[in-house]
Amino acid sequence: MTEQSWASSPATRKSMQANRSKDTKPELALRRALHALGLRYRVCARPIPEIRSTADVVFRRARVAVEVRGCFWHGCPDHYRAPSSNPTYWSEKVQRNQRRDEDTAKRLHEAGWVLEIVWEHDDMVVASRRIEAVVRQRIGLHPPQKQALFADRDEHRVLPTEPACGSMQCSSNVQQPHRPAVT
Ligand SMILES: [Zn+2]
Repeated sequence: MTEQSWASSPATRKSMQANRSKDTKPELALRRALHALGLRYRVCARPIPEIRSTADVVFRRARVAVEVRGCFWHGCPDHYRAPSSNPTYWSEKVQRNQRRDEDTAKRLHEAGWVLEIVWEHDDMVVASRRIEAVVRQRIGLHPPQKQALFADRDEHRVLPTEPACGSMQCSSNVQQPHRPAVT
């Protein structure tokens, strides 16, 4: 992304809007790089229930969340330029995003998570190695439990919504009847 790239033409505006959606090019590049390092993760997941927004990549066991930030939308210190038309409108929008970013980072930190920030201008291979180091170190800090290990196998898939009660959960309860000891 070069300077002066935030022109106010309809085409640019359209691309700015496109940048807000999920599965952006930088996100996909980062995910590919992480996957190539053997890391498995959840995509667009909520790290903790108290936070409404999702993180782009989530390592639940290591408690590491990754956000890929667009240079325009999140006010990159190197590349953000207010568009020439409606500069106030755009700056306020970006400032709102930045406040939300700060709030999310604070809440994650308080919940014992680490938030890794990757800018869209970053080299995704370099970023993935940095994240790998943090994740592996954190897994060392939080020894996995048997259940967590099992859950990790499918972490790279986007899981469908939780199965409704009545499928697996309830039948497993039936299999363990409580029999009082005969005295
Ligand atoms: Zn940037």
